[in-house]
Amino acid sequence: DTIGANLDRAVAAWPDREALVDVPSGRRWTYAEFAADVDRLARALLASDVAKGDRVGIWAVNCAEWVLVQYATARIGAIMVNINPAYRTHEVAYVLKQAGISLLFASLRHKGSDYRAMVEQVRPACPDLREAVYIDDPSWTAFAARGTADRAEELRLRAAELSCDDPINIQYTSGTTGFPKGATLSHHNILNNGYFVGELIAYSEQDRVCVPVPFYHCFGMVMGNLAATSHGACLVVPAASFDPAATLAAVERERCTSLYGVPTMFIAELNLPGFAGYDLSTLRTGIMAGSPCPVEVMKRVVAEMHMAEVAICYGMTETSPVSLQTRTDDDLEHRTGTVGRVLPHLEVKIVDPATGVTRPRGTAGELCTRGYSVMLGYWAEPEKSAEAIDAGRWMHTGDLAVMREDGYVEIVGRIKDMIIRGGENVYPREIEEFLYGHPKIRDVQVVGVPHERYGEEVLACVIPLDAADPLTLQELRAFCADRLAHYKIPSRLSVLDAFPMTVSGKVRKIELRERYGAAAP
Ligand code: ATP
Ligand code: MG
Repeated sequence: DTIGANLDRAVAAWPDREALVDVPSGRRWTYAEFAADVDRLARALLASDVAKGDRVGIWAVNCAEWVLVQYATARIGAIMVNINPAYRTHEVAYVLKQAGISLLFASLRHKGSDYRAMVEQVRPACPDLREAVYIDDPSWTAFAARGTADRAEELRLRAAELSCDDPINIQYTSGTTGFPKGATLSHHNILNNGYFVGELIAYSEQDRVCVPVPFYHCFGMVMGNLAATSHGACLVVPAASFDPAATLAAVERERCTSLYGVPTMFIAELNLPGFAGYDLSTLRTGIMAGSPCPVEVMKRVVAEMHMAEVAICYGMTETSPVSLQTRTDDDLEHRTGTVGRVLPHLEVKIVDPATGVTRPRGTAGELCTRGYSVMLGYWAEPEKSAEAIDAGRWMHTGDLAVMREDGYVEIVGRIKDMIIRGGENVYPREIEEFLYGHPKIRDVQVVGVPHERYGEEVLACVIPLDAADPLTLQELRAFCADRLAHYKIPSRLSVLDAFPMTVSGKVRKIELRERYGAAAP
């Protein structure tokens, strides 16, 4: 089905149930009201001569308008291009040109950044860009007003021309390992993925889903927005950008049943002063994804946030995104030691990265995914697409994984992050898990940095629980001694108060490696 047809079904089934709540502005939409606003915006796009396949950019922090643009562009078969709200002129100009964006929806202002000024600055270099519309500005209201009711028939005709295999979305990858790549996705790709992710955590019209992760990323717009609307659940937007206090307050006030986050967000919430004062008893489930979840964090999420049915998802932008997910009745061990089992209607396999031969269960290799979720390709980059997707339509993820006998998959780490110290393979994830058990450590990242003799050595970057009492390298090494093999024990330590992050909430290890790669601190 197309995303538009799916929304029609939701409206028919649950017209009066709440679809969307924008907490900062206090605005609320039922499914009927939401679809009416989506249609008005879709008609305004038609009135602005947006053709099927035209690229429409959205460069904004989380807000209700983001969601309206997502559904309105899908309704008319335009290709929405998600632009990272953290981007500044250089990067936004790149995306505007690379994707050939003709219409741009942008935030007006956020945290001191003036998006309008940035757009005006890059406009001369972007000849495709015909119009920019600013959210929270009269230009938004004026744009939407073009969507007069007399275009309803035109909208119906356009909808009839669409196919569920049409491209409707370009999502850029997080840029964790380098420059972000634009994955081109169809209705079929992302709608099905959102539906099955929601199905596996048993979403219904009773659920209220708090989404503090950015909409610009697949976690927000597919696992959040599409999973919610395809099951009649309500989407709750707690804040424009992640704020742990606003998130917990929204869960309490809106009586949310589900909460999303990358592990670092849950860590921030659990460590918030006054955490115990929030009433989170309505929570039942949620999704933790994007990077590995430390066991200690998962235990607290289940016990102190009441999220007994929380799911771990593994995926990547290129596969819509989710391919592996835990099930609601999995035990704590499966929920922390693995990223679950393959989703319905998808296939995964683990291969030798050098030869492509499938490896036996229990041995590590590169994870590959096949099925409806695999993207159409990278936008305008056929060589990169051919590198990532092989002739058999298998997407090569670049992640190392092990499949257990019971079909559950453990993610070992990224091929690019693996440390080779004196010929020994060292998996940063294993050491990070171990170091989380140290009482002075709040968060930790392990990376490989160049070493004359060993090729690489192990560096631990630590955020201490108490900045006034950080741990020393001696303490760290004493903690590891006799418990880890000598070649895994970090030989360098760096104490930080924050890690370099992507907007989707991942630590940019590449930046840590670059920062410490040159010389010993
Ligand atoms: P780029 O491809 O630009 O370097 P990225 O790979 O981080 O960035 P995304 O598509 O947002 O961009 O993220 C997908 C990656 O995130 C996966 O390939 C995997 O390395 C990691 N990942 C996702 N979910 C999990 C998880 N549950 N556990 C461990 N790693 C995960
Ligand atoms: Mg990637």
